[in-house]
Amino acid sequence: MKAKVAVGIDLGGTNLKVAAVSEDGRALASRITRTDASRGPDAIIADMVDLVDAVLAEAGRLRSDCAGVGVGSPGPLSPTSGRIIRCANLPGWDDVPLRARLADRLKLPVVLDNDANAAAYGEFWVGAGRDGADMVMLTLGTGVGSGVIVKGRILHGHFENAGELGHMIIVPDGLSCGCGQRGCLEAYASAAAVSRRVIEKRPNTAAGLDAEQVAREARRGDAICLSVWTETCRCLALACVNIQHAFNPARVVLGGGMALAGAFLADPVREELRRLRWTLHDDLPEIILAELGSEAGVIGAAGLAWSLTRHGS
Ligand SMILES: [Zn+2]
Repeated sequence: MKAKVAVGIDLGGTNLKVAAVSEDGRALASRITRTDASRGPDAIIADMVDLVDAVLAEAGRLRSDCAGVGVGSPGPLSPTSGRIIRCANLPGWDDVPLRARLADRLKLPVVLDNDANAAAYGEFWVGAGRDGADMVMLTLGTGVGSGVIVKGRILHGHFENAGELGHMIIVPDGLSCGCGQRGCLEAYASAAAVSRRVIEKRPNTAAGLDAEQVAREARRGDAICLSVWTETCRCLALACVNIQHAFNPARVVLGGGMALAGAFLADPVREELRRLRWTLHDDLPEIILAELGSEAGVIGAAGLAWSLTRHGS
């Protein structure tokens, strides 16, 4: 008998990723396809079912060899009821009972969580947090996604929206955020925000700079890029102080496009965090870079399916 696998699904506005993953977190087979969000939920759910069968076949497994299916999706959504409430990037996904619909089609246990939580779980399971200590992950991409892992479980909170750390306020009356508040971490530390702030400071730049180019220019000593980068690292350090006091994790994992800058991001955040440290005790979280890159979500979704076999829902 072949060892069982779990299947992870990472549903995004652009791509749909599916992977068959072993119990020790290795992707045995994976597929990626364009989501083509305009087709609506029915067609995309049908694609998910086909892709689950395709990765199982490629891994040499049957549905009966599959321990379960985990789905990471944009939200808001309810992990408890398995329903997607709404998705900004997926038109028509209003109150869709995704877990029930997949479970019904696949005849397998299905677990649903939001994409940032799935990515955090992936890093916790087999990436930067794999030693099992409490961790918080910040995914610095188009927005700032985050997930909080406490005692091996994702923290959901009473209203199931815990860990929206991208919207913690870092600068009172600061820059406007897409959520309607001002001064959110996301308005400063997402890759998109870094790029936008540089463009605002030098409007004559013909083509804007993306976050990677801002990091490169800052390294070369460009004054505007360097000031934006420094401010960004300071905001992240402030966020880490707040995270320390709220959750007291062993580590904060930085992922997403911004993390491609590596030590140029992590070192100034560590330095600023040490400068801001609260002196009553010495429990500063370790700041480390994510290890799984863009695979964190799909691997983490499969990890959630595996955890279902251990803990139940
Ligand atoms: Zn916000």
